[in-house]
Amino acid sequence: MGFFDAHSHTPGLSYCCSPEVTIQHYADAIDANSWLDGVVITNHGFSSYFPPEITKTWKFMREPELFDEYEDFGNERIMDFVGQLATFCNPNLVMGMEVEMLSNGQFTLSDKIAYFIDVKIGSLHWGPTELVDRSHPSTVWDYVLSYYERMLRKGVDVIAHPFRWPLKNLKISPDASIIQDFVSLLKKYNTAAEINGRFRNANDEFLLQEMMGEGVKIAFSSDAHRPENVGDFSYHFELLEKLGLTLDDIDFWRPNATY
Ligand SMILES: [Zn+2]
Ligand SMILES: [Zn+2]
Repeated sequence: MGFFDAHSHTPGLSYCCSPEVTIQHYADAIDANSWLDGVVITNHGFSSYFPPEITKTWKFMREPELFDEYEDFGNERIMDFVGQLATFCNPNLVMGMEVEMLSNGQFTLSDKIAYFIDVKIGSLHWGPTELVDRSHPSTVWDYVLSYYERMLRKGVDVIAHPFRWPLKNLKISPDASIIQDFVSLLKKYNTAAEINGRFRNANDEFLLQEMMGEGVKIAFSSDAHRPENVGDFSYHFELLEKLGLTLDDIDFWRPNATY
């Protein structure tokens, strides 16, 4: 049994992605690996909608009116990419976006073009550090879990690298009960989360086991930003081996019933 890469990038719409990555790399990876059924290309909403000088400030997170200002700019760029992807005529190359939730609840994806986006993966890369207290981690987890609950209620297909912001930016690691609370949210909203091949961390093993135990669908993601990341699932396969599992044991998320 195979799976879809739920999360990957290309350079035009993701400033952080190497200019060498092309859509063709993803098509080739699907052809080369029998276990790779397809790839969802999920560029960052925050770099699709804003020029680089705004993207890097994150100020759109607090000032959602900036999104309104740049909505048409972003929609044009995204629709241009939709056109490029369509030229491949490959149903296993799926159009997605990696979205953040702004302070007013708006995703970094316009409703006007939502029809063309088959998959939304929801992310938290930046949080308002003044609202949390690192010496009281419960304030961090209250923020993180409520952000995800609002995101899940609004509707995404997969939550990306769930603990990236607290781990990377705040140096706070979730304990078992936080991971269980997060998985309960996924179950409540019938939504998957990913094991991310780029942002790897010690919680992945427990997260995977909890999702399996609760019957939550699991996404495997390369989060490719460089050519050598495309189709590289060595981390995921090592994780499975460590846990004595095979691909057949995993209830994989797939883009939708037609794939
Ligand atoms: Zn991300
Ligand atoms: Zn990403």
